[in-house]
Amino acid sequence: MDRKAKAVVCREWGQPVQVETITVEGPKRDEITLRIGACGVCHSDLSATTGKIPYPPPLVLGHEAAGVVVEVGEGVTAFKEGDHVVSSFISMCGKCRQCVRGRPVLCENARNAMFTLPDGTVRTKDANGEPLNVFGACGVMAEYATMHVDNCVKVDDTVPMQNAALVGCAVMTGVGAVFNTAKVEPGSRTAVFGIGGVGLNAIQGCATAGAEMIVAVDSNPGKLEMAKQFGATHTININEVDDAAKAVKKLTGGVDYAFECVGAGAVVEQAYKSLGRGGTAVVVGVADPKDKTAITTLTLPADERVLKGSWLGSARPQHDFPRILGLYKAGKLKLDELVTRTYSIDDAAQAFDDMVAGKNARGVIVFD
Ligand code: NAD
Ligand code: ZN
Repeated sequence: MDRKAKAVVCREWGQPVQVETITVEGPKRDEITLRIGACGVCHSDLSATTGKIPYPPPLVLGHEAAGVVVEVGEGVTAFKEGDHVVSSFISMCGKCRQCVRGRPVLCENARNAMFTLPDGTVRTKDANGEPLNVFGACGVMAEYATMHVDNCVKVDDTVPMQNAALVGCAVMTGVGAVFNTAKVEPGSRTAVFGIGGVGLNAIQGCATAGAEMIVAVDSNPGKLEMAKQFGATHTININEVDDAAKAVKKLTGGVDYAFECVGAGAVVEQAYKSLGRGGTAVVVGVADPKDKTAITTLTLPADERVLKGSWLGSARPQHDFPRILGLYKAGKLKLDELVTRTYSIDDAAQAFDDMVAGKNARGVIVFD
């Protein structure tokens, strides 16, 4: 059935987000409709409103949500009404070469589901009946969302929605970059550049992995304080040093793992320069498609350095989302502390402004 829903929409790049009442159609084959409980506000949503992530407007934002299934389409067996679900902004077909070799975030069919559902159509339309694209085949910054099951992960229904939501992006991305992409060993020396929702989770991932040194690098003193609460052993304010990479190197002798959680080639260079011999720099931030990075080529062989990327924390979402919630329930990962502030959907523009101002670990939109 069709449902009316308030939704956060980007109408035009460079303009503030708008809250509109849209129509969400019921599920077709292999789709489900969710009533959304909570949706985190991620920098990637902001990047979609500026065109840095060039998904065409009009676009329903949101890719980091938890909700409850209210309707299932034909052929759906893995979900039933009442199940709790976390969104995955990466569609995983489960059948292509990348999926079957255990790399679902690289699914060969995911490119069909960037701003529409996998079949290239959408279930969302505005008050004039015009179709609305959906961020990452999700568009979950809305009261309801109809999604393909390949973008949905069933989770423990005892975890509060506002905590479970964050596993869909910030937590999986940050913790997964440490656990899955880098495979940080106990006793490692690590540095995290950019302490937003993603970087804080890289910090707590390093702490859980038993890193000996965890250096947090940011320009915002409030973020550096938060980093300490999540396990940073040292902090560097980039405004108080000439060169952040040199400052990390001086403190640590060169790190084994550096995580770039900003999304800028210049910061990737710093992360790479902060490495010691045998070190790995992991690029997590999403840069503008035209952005470039320069590194000293000789250091790759002579130091056996590694420069690699991490997409949704190299997750296997069906396995890792529940696993992360298990670590939270066991007291090994902090989720409550990540939610600095909750907003009603009517205050969505404020939530984006607060992210730009660096006020929150994560701001989360909660629905009644
Ligand atoms: P955020 O806005 O919450 O945090 C970014 C942080 O970087 C802020 O604290 C800011 O002060 C800091 N910063 C800015 N410039 C800096 C610099 N030169 N040096 C050090 N710190 C600096 O953002 P977020 O939601 O944590 O997202 C971070 C990045 O990760 C974004 O680019 C986002 O698009 C990307 N992202 C990637 C994935 C993935 O799968 N790889 C998933 C989600 C988000
Ligand atoms: Zn995100």
